[in-house]
Order: sequence, then structure tokens, then C-alpha cells
Amino acid sequence: MDEGIRLIQTNLRETDTALDPVRLVRQLEEYSANALLFGMGGIVAHYPTKVEFHYASPHMPAGRDTFGEVLREAHARKIRVIGRFDLSKTQKAVYDAHPEWFFRKANGEPVIYNGLYSTCINGGYYREHAIRILTEALERYDVDGLFFNMFGNPAADYSGVPIGNCTCESCKKRFREMYGRDLPTGRDPVYGEFLEKSRLEVATRIGALIHAKRPNAAFWTYIQGLVDGITSESNTAVNRPLPLWPYSASDNVNRARNSQPDKMAFNLGIGFVDIPYRFVTVPPAEVQLRHYQNMAHGAGPAFVAVGTLDQEDRSGLLATKPVFDWHKRHADLYVGQESAARVLLLGGRQGSYRGFFRLLSEQLIPFAVSDNFSWLQERPRQFDLVISSQGLPAELEDYLRQGGRVLAAGAIAPQLEVGKVVRRWTNTRSAYLRIHDRALFPSLQDTNLLFLDGEYLEFEPPAKPLLTLIPPSMFGPPEKVHVDWTETTKPGVLLREYGKGKVVYIPWDVGGLYYRHSSPGHAGLVTDLIDHLLPSRQVKTNAHPLVEITVMSQPQRKRTLVHLVNLSGHSETAYFPPIEMRDIQIGVQGDFRRARAATLNRELPLASTGGYRQFVLPSLGTYEVVILD
Ligand SMILES: [Zn+2]
Repeated sequence: MDEGIRLIQTNLRETDTALDPVRLVRQLEEYSANALLFGMGGIVAHYPTKVEFHYASPHMPAGRDTFGEVLREAHARKIRVIGRFDLSKTQKAVYDAHPEWFFRKANGEPVIYNGLYSTCINGGYYREHAIRILTEALERYDVDGLFFNMFGNPAADYSGVPIGNCTCESCKKRFREMYGRDLPTGRDPVYGEFLEKSRLEVATRIGALIHAKRPNAAFWTYIQGLVDGITSESNTAVNRPLPLWPYSASDNVNRARNSQPDKMAFNLGIGFVDIPYRFVTVPPAEVQLRHYQNMAHGAGPAFVAVGTLDQEDRSGLLATKPVFDWHKRHADLYVGQESAARVLLLGGRQGSYRGFFRLLSEQLIPFAVSDNFSWLQERPRQFDLVISSQGLPAELEDYLRQGGRVLAAGAIAPQLEVGKVVRRWTNTRSAYLRIHDRALFPSLQDTNLLFLDGEYLEFEPPAKPLLTLIPPSMFGPPEKVHVDWTETTKPGVLLREYGKGKVVYIPWDVGGLYYRHSSPGHAGLVTDLIDHLLPSRQVKTNAHPLVEITVMSQPQRKRTLVHLVNLSGHSETAYFPPIEMRDIQIGVQGDFRRARAATLNRELPLASTGGYRQFVLPSLGTYEVVILD
């Protein structure tokens, strides 16, 4: 939390154990990395372990201790080292000696992948033997942390083949104790909860062991709570449905830093294309975009490869180097950053949430993301507006009563009273919404209609409707298009006072529709409603919608940072270097005396108008950060 981190992760293969530690650490220095996450133990130990059922790589030369040597070289150069373990699989010899430690499919068979046997989170390997393995590792090596891959029982193997529920004796016994019935063999609503509880129990023990043996070392895995930092990935996969999500790193870091502000976020930029293609990297511009997005939202850049740093495809590391160099030279900009955004977006279902995420970014409205309500009580934070892409949660009641403003959407019955629900429409294909209120919707002056698709929650009509439903009607052939349509008073949006606050409810999935179709009508509707609810915008700018702007504060340095990330190089599945943007006018609310652009390395003249300090950024390449103090 108080030092900038530039992390390189490399997952070692067993054949990499013979690597040259001096060369590896020199390469880390050349790339300006100050933290290394790399292979330590579990499936293969990269050190001469003495613990039974834990095996050093057969490729480690006699007398060598690869992990120990890298650790020593790295620490001598002030590079932190996090050891990576994978306890989810091990060798046949362990299975032969302790079959009860292993995952069992419904037919009683173990899960075997490339000769490795899958362990079970509830078996003795994870619950007892792992403690012996980790005790040796922690006592021998002054690690700065341990990271655990595949923590718990995955639902599928590496090839994506489902393996079902584990039916080992430990799972059967624990499930019966916890739920008073037999372990389900198929899908079951509580099975996920059972596995999660099992994971958390083991994580609690391992976390406690790490903190007891190495009080300064951190515990990481892909779970929330318990861990000392929040890990996420920006990655690609060959079978993932399109569109790509070019805001992946921003989304992960924004959400992590604002959901759990007392923990650092580690968003790992996965260099390779997919798990079956680990030796070819994604476009260099995509690698850099992820790094800059991490930094703009309060985390450090992080790059992941497999093998040594002598990569077959060097483009990912080469793209990483200038960003890491920059971060090292300007380390003070990336320490102690907190979001200063005045708008909050609540986490939600992917498409609906992403629609709002992208729209806010395109509208250049700085926003924080949270997937919890800790900002209401535990860590109080003031927001001018809260946006929910999926319904109106009851937790917002006090916030609204005390004068808060909420924009909520989705055909989901609101948990707070905003009107009387008549019925839910499950299909509105070929329906429209007619715009009535011209004053409220200046962005919609060139159209009378918005399109509606998907579910719609019908409320009783208000006295003065803003938008009304035109229900589905004939859409073909052209001779018959909508000749039968009918006007109604069924509302397309509800607007009402709530206590001292105000709530707008859009009873259909405008976020999901915007994510898929980017209709300017939907964008205009939401933007005008946001501007109706907001007392004023935090940032006023003429920047292009594909410039991402974040406003961060550094309370200890009493200054504000405005980050600009240029996304204009993204198209479909391609990432190219972004197009240079010129003469971007930016006004930020607040009282600042000085503006300096770090990338351009120059002062920017400041002007004042009505609560805003304004400056012009003459040129934006890939990334800029303007320091206001
Ligand atoms: Zn089991």
C-alpha cells in the first residue's frame, strides 16, 4: 500500500528449474520490475525439498537450489519475491500411498491430467500435508508472500472437460455433517456454498501459517476476504464470446480498490493468448493498455509469462518495459492513490453492468465501482449519485432518505417503493418507447423513439409520463411494418422523490442493451437522467469518448491526479497504438493552483470558471497523468 509495485509473474515449467538465477534477476532489473511471483512448490518444487510426497524438479541440477538462489539474488537487488504453489495436483506415487487425499469422480475414478492426480480440498493433502510442505518452505525461505493457484476443486480439467462433484469419503462425511443429507452427485444449489466453505477453511489455516512463520509475508489466492491483496486477471481465451472487454483492467482494479480499499489490487496482465497458447503474446498495445489502466485506478502494472524471461515471443515483455520504466521513474505518482470519483456504480450481472461501465467511461464521468455497501457504514464515503444496473437494492434506503440520488435499471422488482408493479413482460421484441418530455432529454431531440428488447417491468402509469411503451407490433413485410402499433401510458421510466433524495427507475435492461448495441438513444436517455440527478459534473471536458479519465487523490501528498488513458487503438479484436489526441480541454471541480502534465513534462496554465479549474492538454499519446495541487 505504501510502495509502487511492478510485478512480473513467471510460472516455471519443470524444465526451467535449471535456469540461471543471476540472469533472471538481471533481466528483472532491466525490465524495471521490483517484484517477482514465480514457481516455488506444489506440483513441482524448485528447491531441494525434504518433505515426503513433495518432489523437487528432476531437472534441477545436483547441488542447486533454484528458488533459494533467485530469492537471494533478488533480495540483494531489492526485488520482492512471492512463491507460487499449486496444491491441486500431484504425482501418482502420492495417490498410490494415500488415495483418500484425492478427488474422486462420480464413478469412483481419480482425475488424471498429463500424469498428475487431482487432490481434494477436503482431503488430507490440502488439510494436513500441505501444512508440512509450507512449513518447510516458510522456515527455509524469507519470502515476501505466497500465492496459490487453483485453490480448491475446479469444476473442469485443463482441457475444459467437466469433472463433476468430488465424491471422496472426506467430502461425503463433511457434506453430511454440514447439511444432514447425502452429498449430491449432480447439480445442487448448496454444493457451491459447500465448496466455498471448504476453500475458506483451508485458506484460513494456510493464511495463519504464513503470517505466523513470516509476519511480513502476504497470502494471495483468487478469493476475497482472508487474503492480503486482491488478485484478478486481464486475459483472453480463444473460445470466449465476443465482444472483447477493453476496460478489463480498469474494471478489475476499480472494483477491487473501491470494494476493499484497505487492500492492494493485483491485476495480472496475462501475456499469452490462452492456456493452450502460452508462448504467443496478445498485441503489445493491449499489454500496455492493461498496465496503464491498472495505474489509472490505483494499482501497479503486472505482467505474466510462462517459463524464463527468454521468451519465444518477446513482444509482451518489450511492451511492458517502457511502462515499468515510467512507473519506476515516477513511483511517487502511484503510491497512496484513492479514487476521488463522485459517482458510484454497483457491481452486477456482466452485460448490464458493463453497459453502464462503458457508458460512464465514454461520457467521461469519473466513477468508482463497488460490489458491496461498505461505503455506507464501515468506510463512509460521499457519492453524488449511485447507479445500479440491476434493480433497486434495499440497502440504499437510508442513503436515499438522507438526500442521496439513485439511478437504477432492470426489469427486476425494486426492493424499495417506486410505484405499483402491474406485470412483467418477458419478451418485448419489436417494442419501442416514445419520448414525451423534451426538456428532460436534450440528447434525444432528433428522435421520438427508443427501441426496447428483452424484459420489461410494467408499472402503473404516473400522472405525467416521460417515456411510454409502444408494445410489440408487426415488423414485416415492409408493407405491414408497425401499421398496427398502439400508443399506451405504460411508463418507460419512473422518476420520484424518496425522502430527501431522488430516484430514477428504468424498468428494463438499458445497460445490457447498451452493452450489445451502443444505441445513441439509450446512451442519451441514461446521460440525460444522470445529468438530471447530479448536482453538477465533477469533470467537464471535450475529450473523445475513447479517452478514459480517472480522478484520483493522494491524501498524504494533498494533491489530485487526473489520469488519461487513450483507448482509440482498439477495434473489434485488434489493439493498435492509439491515435494521438490534441488540445483536450479539461475542467475539474476543486481548488488547485498548479497543473503539470507528467508525460509531456510541462506546466499547464490554469483558468478558473464557476468552481472548475480548467486546463488544456496539448497532446495525448497512450497515457498522461496531470498532477493538480
Ligand atoms: Zn473430496
